[in-house]
Amino acid sequence: MITLKEALTKSKEELAEIKTEIEKLARESELNAYIGFESSGEGVPILIKDNIQVTDWPVTSGSKILQGYIAPYDATAITNLKKNGMMAFGRANMDEFAMGSTTESSYYGITKNPHDLNRVPGGSSGGSAAAVAGGIAIAALGSDTGGSIRQPAAYCGCVGFKPTYGMVSRYGLAAYASSLDQIGPITQNVEDAAILYDAISGHDPKDSTSAEHERVSIAANLDGNRKLRIAVIDNYIEAASEAIQKAYAETVKALESAGHTIVHKNMQNTKYDIATYYIVATAEAATNLARFDGVRYGRRAEGSNLSELYYNTRSEGFGEEVKRRILLGNFVLSSGYYDAYYLKAQKVRHLIRDEFGAIFDDVDLILSPVAPSVAPIIGSIHDPLDMYKSDMYTIAINLAGLPALSLPVGKDEETGMPIGLQLIGRAFDEQKVFDGAYSLEQTINYKN
Ligand code: GLN
Repeated sequence: MITLKEALTKSKEELAEIKTEIEKLARESELNAYIGFESSGEGVPILIKDNIQVTDWPVTSGSKILQGYIAPYDATAITNLKKNGMMAFGRANMDEFAMGSTTESSYYGITKNPHDLNRVPGGSSGGSAAAVAGGIAIAALGSDTGGSIRQPAAYCGCVGFKPTYGMVSRYGLAAYASSLDQIGPITQNVEDAAILYDAISGHDPKDSTSAEHERVSIAANLDGNRKLRIAVIDNYIEAASEAIQKAYAETVKALESAGHTIVHKNMQNTKYDIATYYIVATAEAATNLARFDGVRYGRRAEGSNLSELYYNTRSEGFGEEVKRRILLGNFVLSSGYYDAYYLKAQKVRHLIRDEFGAIFDDVDLILSPVAPSVAPIIGSIHDPLDMYKSDMYTIAINLAGLPALSLPVGKDEETGMPIGLQLIGRAFDEQKVFDGAYSLEQTINYKN
């Protein structure tokens, strides 16, 4: 597939042909990465996750409860795309309300991994990553609350970037956990990720958490020759599979050979990451999803009075995982348990952020696994807790609000599945994250 950088040099007529070809390939594909073929605007077609509003398109967050809902306005990320030579084309499948790590919980069925149709593409932005890696999208937008851009990118062998919290507007993104959510690019290479990130990033008065930080073009300043100090967290990688640890060790060597300095560190608070994330994220989700009551948005179930209508709409409309999280979220926010869980989690969140801060006093970047294993077989995760545990390497970055980029570094010899690692940076230091990733991409020379 043509890269985003190349596509941006094409004429209107050439782009129209490319779009027709992409639609043909996507309709024939077995991946179930696309759930719609709407288009909006002119320019390079970018695939859009089903939780980002595009005027007059259905937007359902992969859920039954939002069937029939049509977006009344463009998300700011979409407005920004259109200002930069791109257009929105096609809806990408996702886990319901972005809750999940496999794209198995979508109302539209399971998306498959292009490297092995028996395996999941990761999630929740599984449609976006499968399409880019499977050659049926030039680039895509996803959202990342606890890894949903980086992990599917790693499972599928493409690049995914989660920006610093506040750098991309959340206006028009269906809220899962508002203090963690960010929209970001999923692309074929690092440079395309920088181009797409530059396009969507910007201060937005419509999002009260939007950062007023200055934006300088990352793509225009991309420098693969910059020498950086990169931390490896020795006690962090032990939980990863042998194949991931091997790829990690080889990547450390590659970084050294490219002239970067490796610094060894340890982190003490990582054992609290999963508990903290699943308290904060479910608390915010329970609050955000309270608005889906059958009155204001989407699908309405039968009911002879108001409370029956609420009850039936939510019982029929939400899937199992979403219900589990609403229950958990309401529990941790309930008056008897608020201090013991929610308040405690907020305090631990600060400790996690401070621990990253202490490491970044000494280094530019941290190298970390994205997931403890390669993409699992479809249907193989039965216990939700096992799925939550597979988020162990991505969620702390959202809790701390940091930028991180996942890129493919190799393949598992046994399964042939791609392995991705992530480079994590200081808040607002996206340039170093991209520079380090660009250097690593050139040194490793991964082929999808
Ligand atoms: N897997 C994580 C969760 O289920 C992250 C999802 C996301 O980033 N949207 O919450």
